[in-house]
Amino acid sequence: MHIYPDVKLFIGGEWRDAIGGEVIPVIDPATEEVIGRIAHARKPDLDLALEAADAGFRLWRDISAFDRSKLMRKAADILRSRADAIAHIMTREQGKPIAQSKAEVMNGADTIDWFAEEARRTYGQIIPARFGGVSNMAIKFPVGPVAAFTPWNFPINQIVRKLSAALATGCSIIVKAPEETPASPAELIRAFADAGVPAGVVNLVYGVPADISQYLIAHPVVRKISFTGSTPVGKHLAALAGKHMKRATMELGGHAPAIICNDADLERAIAVTAPAKFRNAGQVCVAPTRFLVQDGIADRFTQGFVEAAQAIKVGNGLEHGVAMGPLANDRRIPAMEDMLQDAISHGAQLMTGGKRIGNKGYFFEPTVLSDVPTSARIMNDEPFGPIAVINRFSHLDEAIAEANRLPFGLASYAFTGSVTTAHSLGRRVEAGMLTINHNGLAIPEVPFGGIKDSGYGTEGGSEAVEAYLETRFVSQMI
Ligand code: NAD
Repeated sequence: MHIYPDVKLFIGGEWRDAIGGEVIPVIDPATEEVIGRIAHARKPDLDLALEAADAGFRLWRDISAFDRSKLMRKAADILRSRADAIAHIMTREQGKPIAQSKAEVMNGADTIDWFAEEARRTYGQIIPARFGGVSNMAIKFPVGPVAAFTPWNFPINQIVRKLSAALATGCSIIVKAPEETPASPAELIRAFADAGVPAGVVNLVYGVPADISQYLIAHPVVRKISFTGSTPVGKHLAALAGKHMKRATMELGGHAPAIICNDADLERAIAVTAPAKFRNAGQVCVAPTRFLVQDGIADRFTQGFVEAAQAIKVGNGLEHGVAMGPLANDRRIPAMEDMLQDAISHGAQLMTGGKRIGNKGYFFEPTVLSDVPTSARIMNDEPFGPIAVINRFSHLDEAIAEANRLPFGLASYAFTGSVTTAHSLGRRVEAGMLTINHNGLAIPEVPFGGIKDSGYGTEGGSEAVEAYLETRFVSQMI
């Protein structure tokens, strides 16, 4: 029997109620029932968290990378051992099918392991000196206490990248986790606490996101911020970070083009992109959203994609065989309905789906639109839901122009049998990530991040570690 836990703040190594005693309800998006409560932090709680993170940093930065790495690996093992229970919690609060929740927990453990390994490789440099007896040393230091702000679509994955990079480098962290999906993040934090990470190194708060970010970013204790969420909020937080001269990583919105050429393996293109589109009910910043399909295969691709969408079993993520759960919150239903209505009024064809399912739980049909003019809102704003748009192109240049038309540049997809076309796409598509003929995104060892309005900094690969380090120079004459 799985019980959904009430969630407290984690500050200075203790699970605590908010000083003011306030709580926020948590709603199961599949049933609309209130399933739990979380402690709501206000300024006095944040002050405690800041004090704890400051003390935690002084302690953690002096623990060797070797020992930090060992503690992190232990946390990863604890997380794996609890994966079934945590997956259940995640599905109840977020809605995604339980297999996807479990995969997220297991991938989270892999991410911790990868960053734990990187912890031991934060090398500096010795730079050749101009004079005998001089050593020129570039030395890496942890940047300091980090404030991380993460959204509800991947409750663990969005935190674990920031948390692991911070801990690997010797930083402490205050995580402002998502209020709508709070308990699985708390279990992630618990794994670190149970592994023996010292008090104050990892802290967890919930509350009013705008109030917390404004307070933490401005506070002198915080030296770095990392945010995942929408582009407008990211721009606001980046401006705050700039005002207070704080380092920042911004993982923001996308609107991923998927370019399918005439010479593509059609079956593979559908088999890869349909699950990528509808995974987590499309609430994925790297989900393919604008399908640009070449004339010669457009009809067959559309038909196959529509069939794939219709075959998806939608339901409560705890039920066997369900491939798509509800949308994560009530705001997403009108968001989908408005975008669809707008697209259809601009002349788009509705190929399948288009409606809310039932009136209990935030379920929505896997939906496919075709022939959508670029004036429609869905061609400009991230749909962040289970709606795919399929448009046609004749010449590759048109597809690339459309791919690059928007200010976003996060993920992109392409399918082609031509090596020449693949190379050309790699150079010409303006995106932080491009995956060709398969889905190779979002594993810890490769870069993960956007360009243009999709943000800056990467949350994967060795550069993700660099984002939590500062370089200091020491020139020493013997
Ligand atoms: P929203 O823009 O209000 O919130 C998105 C996230 O940012 C939430 O987690 C929220 O708590 C946080 N947030 C909002 N204002 C903040 C602030 N001032 N300081 C700190 N955090 C803040 O919208 P929403 O209704 O929750 O989600 C809708 C949109 O958000 C989607 O259309 C999508 O573009 C974006 N989103 C992106 C991701 C992602 O993975 N990049 C994840 C979730 C949501």
